[in-house]
Amino acid sequence: MLGAITGDIIGSVYEFHNIKTKNFPLFSEKSTFTDDSILTCATAEWLLSNKDAKEIFLKWGHVYQNRTIENGKIPAFGKGFMGWLQSGQPYGAKTNGCVMRISPIGLMEKDIEIALKKAIYLTNMTHNHPESLKYTTAYIETMFLLKKEKNPNMVRDYISKKYEIDLSKSIDEIRPEYNKFYCSCKNSVPQAIVAVLESSSYEEAIRNAVSLGGDSDTLAAMAGGLAEVKFQIPTKIALQTLSRVDKSMRDVIFKFYQKIR
Ligand SMILES: [Mg+2]
Repeated sequence: MLGAITGDIIGSVYEFHNIKTKNFPLFSEKSTFTDDSILTCATAEWLLSNKDAKEIFLKWGHVYQNRTIENGKIPAFGKGFMGWLQSGQPYGAKTNGCVMRISPIGLMEKDIEIALKKAIYLTNMTHNHPESLKYTTAYIETMFLLKKEKNPNMVRDYISKKYEIDLSKSIDEIRPEYNKFYCSCKNSVPQAIVAVLESSSYEEAIRNAVSLGGDSDTLAAMAGGLAEVKFQIPTKIALQTLSRVDKSMRDVIFKFYQKIR
């Protein structure tokens, strides 16, 4: 959860100003939370409550529906989700919005079957498309594997075979050909997984993800959510993140970690 929010904040300044290097300042004055952090908090609050997921997501969505990034030029939420805030109807999207928000599920649940059920439930609420379900499932299963499996090649082999996802290319091999604003699950979840498998620290996972370009904040949020189960988030980095979120978000973050500790 904090891993995903941190990735989102670090990636936020690079989403529309892609960089193709791992060498960049993690935080700047402009680093800010976007939809990925907001909806990660919504997921955490859902897990902590007995309420309906839709009710909670609508609440967070409406609180932040006017939030913008890039000096007010771009809405923080995507078009599909903005439409959902009005209609409440799933919109069949194949985009990575269904994955960037689910890391609290993998952190809190001990039983993978329950975790998968919850991830599928959330995905069907908005992104009811087989491809989205495939990648949310693969993401949760990767999270569970990373909790106990130290050998990244074991994780790579298992996930790539089971889900028929290509995880064979290295970050250096992906980077030069990753030249569009990819926001589908298909073209961003595998890359986020590779960013983590190829790292030896939380920070390196985030640097790998951002260095690809594309949808930087969401790539880093997805990588950060996974990296959090494999590595410690350095305190210095966590404090930067906590200083950049709203009080309502900080409250959920603290409650969540108290609960899972
Ligand atoms: Mg975002």
